[in-house]
Amino acid sequence: MIGLDKQEIIQLLKATGEERTALLTRAQEVKVKETGNKVYFRGLVEFSNICAKDCLYCGIRKGNEKVIRYDVSDDEILESCRFAWENNFASVVLQSGELSSPTFIKRVDDLLKKIKQISNGELGITLSCGEQSQETYRRWFESGAHRYLLRIESSNRELYYKIHPENEIHSFEKRIEALRSLKNTGYQVGTGVMIGLPFQTYEHLADDLLFFKKLDIDMCGMGPYIEHEDTPLYQHRHLLKTKQERFDLALNMIAVLRLLMPDINIAAATALQAIDPAGREKALAIGANVIMPNLTPTAYREEYQLYEDKPCLDEDAELCRNCLEARIHMAGSEIGYGEWGDSKHFYIRS
Ligand code: SAM
Ligand code: SF4
Repeated sequence: MIGLDKQEIIQLLKATGEERTALLTRAQEVKVKETGNKVYFRGLVEFSNICAKDCLYCGIRKGNEKVIRYDVSDDEILESCRFAWENNFASVVLQSGELSSPTFIKRVDDLLKKIKQISNGELGITLSCGEQSQETYRRWFESGAHRYLLRIESSNRELYYKIHPENEIHSFEKRIEALRSLKNTGYQVGTGVMIGLPFQTYEHLADDLLFFKKLDIDMCGMGPYIEHEDTPLYQHRHLLKTKQERFDLALNMIAVLRLLMPDINIAAATALQAIDPAGREKALAIGANVIMPNLTPTAYREEYQLYEDKPCLDEDAELCRNCLEARIHMAGSEIGYGEWGDSKHFYIRS
């Protein structure tokens, strides 16, 4: 199954009815065989919504003046990380808008060291802080980050510039360069795309999957695009598939990726839950094996609205954890408490 060509991928992405059921079932079988039946938690801390970029789809883009900007204090971030560690999550993800000032770079660097300190070096740390120089990536790696998430958003240059302004700070080439730098630095590298964007075709999505394979990624996080009324892309909402169609297509994408890259980690993206309350669990049942419970202090969540109907805005971490645990068990999977749950692929790739 690993050698699917573009036409075969397109056919699978379009699968409905029995053909789709067979695809989803097969993807789950491949996941269990290659990575086991465990789901790994990554406690997500969205520690700042201050961003220098203006991605046309994103609710916290620089140009959205309605957003109240925040920086979660170091103490609160460490509190969330301590919660993750004490609850055996084993890993956290620090996510933010994209800044590259020396102050920001140093702040993340200091945080990494402190997180390692409070957890006796045990908490695994993933970063998702956008494009940075190779030097910054190296500095953060040396301070304890070992995985990095940077979605390519679309691997098609033309589509990329339909969803980003075409200028120096939103350069497609720089994005690809950043992914290469991350790999060269030694990170486990995760990327992904939004699914169901205006102007996006099945061809684009098939090319995205082939791009992941060619880049030989270790992890993937991809979910449905969801519109936000205070963003420029909202004007094209008449071009969108229904939310249910985007959701179904996102599951097909996850399943096909699992067939193409059997041993990588695939996250059940939060955006799935914005469409279907059980969306993430459905992804875990058809090929995904990682979930990112939100540990951002509740008071800040309202201002990290990337898209409409973002879930869990007022649930605290404890509630989130209990409800997730029950749902994952109901879906028939175990939780990999206390384990980093690294990408198996990372250890065998060249
Ligand atoms: N600033 C960093 C970056 O862009 O890589 C990390 C934070 S950014 C908010 C994380 C991801 O949110 C992006 O990679 C993007 O795919 C996703 N996102 C933003 N707006 C979205 C939307 N309207 N619908 C779905 N996902 C969205
Ligand atoms: Fe900033 Fe990331 Fe949103 Fe782009 S997707 S505007 S870089 S937070």
